[in-house]
Amino acid sequence: MKETQKKLFKAACEVQKRAHAPYSGALIGAAVLMSDGKIFSGCNVENASYGGTVCAERVAIFKAVSEGATKKIVEVLVVSDAEKPWPPCGFCRQVIAEFADEKTLVHTTNLQGKSKTFTFPEIFPEAFTPKHLD
Ligand code: ZN
Repeated sequence: MKETQKKLFKAACEVQKRAHAPYSGALIGAAVLMSDGKIFSGCNVENASYGGTVCAERVAIFKAVSEGATKKIVEVLVVSDAEKPWPPCGFCRQVIAEFADEKTLVHTTNLQGKSKTFTFPEIFPEAFTPKHLD
């Protein structure tokens, strides 16, 4: 892992333990590196209504925006306790698309540090972005 990825991994692992996941049992942590160098992390927060559930990636991104970070994501890291690292879901890919560009990296990892890295266009080609509304 590169140094930045290690920082994101550490931040995501710290909050992964706090996930509220009584329904799926899947504890997920995520961390995003914004272009101003700040890192924000989040865990999944499930809800009895199911539809009210928010994934770790979106919690981290919403925290970044609400805390006033620059609105450009450089890297995203997702950590799960699964053997095969989980990628962001479709909802999260769409939210990442709002703040990503073709260079944004997405790291999927498990707790043992097994990881796979993608560029954002690799995992979400032809994304609908703010550019479509210009
Ligand atoms: Zn998601």
